[in-house]
Amino acid sequence: MSSTAFAGKLVVGTDTNFPPFEFKDPDSGKHTGFDVELWDAIAKEIGAEYDLQPMDFNGIIPGLQTGQLDAGIAGMTIKPERAEVIDFSDGYYNSGLLILVRSDNEDVNKIEDLAGKVVSTKLATTSADLVKERANAKDVKLFPNNDAMFMELLSGGADAVVFDSPVVADFMRKAGKGQVKVVGPLYHGQAYGIGFPKGSPLVAKVNAALKSLKDSGKYRDLYIKWFGTEP
Ligand code: GLN
Repeated sequence: MSSTAFAGKLVVGTDTNFPPFEFKDPDSGKHTGFDVELWDAIAKEIGAEYDLQPMDFNGIIPGLQTGQLDAGIAGMTIKPERAEVIDFSDGYYNSGLLILVRSDNEDVNKIEDLAGKVVSTKLATTSADLVKERANAKDVKLFPNNDAMFMELLSGGADAVVFDSPVVADFMRKAGKGQVKVVGPLYHGQAYGIGFPKGSPLVAKVNAALKSLKDSGKYRDLYIKWFGTEP
């Protein structure tokens, strides 16, 4: 663990912008969202103080590996390759990946239709993996953050974005309204977990806290607040 061992203040990495899980509240200038409030509830349960450190997603796993971060909550998918280098909590959200195109696009209806196209997605994510494995794209543009990734689609620099379903849904509702549409099925069902340095004593404590937040109804309240549906 880093110098901020459990006894002191934990350093907790999160993505700069992955709404509705984490994003900067325009009024307060502070980060908020489902992940941020879930972590705050967990920290209260385990009696930990922490500093939240928003960063590009691709810095979080290296930050955990080097012990610069004590935990990372960033809509991070639990997957075997990652579990070799960091530890994960139990899953706390079931997700998947979607294809997003401009509303006037008529020729992309599934991942295979991205053959020969330009695809925009985020660096070091499960979407980048899916595109590499299945899309046979002409060009895959990998951006460090959501804004640049979505902007590339709106500006015509890419034919499609492939990204996490709840974040695509949030973008559709807000910025992309009327300009974009989702096509095809939900790909790669996946669970998000909280990441820790290998061997961290926090894993068991956080899993116990997650369980008690589920039992008490607090998890459900947060879920409904941020996603508008029952877990
Ligand atoms: N769920 C995706 C992954 O873990 C994307 C996470 C993110 O961009 N914050 O690869």
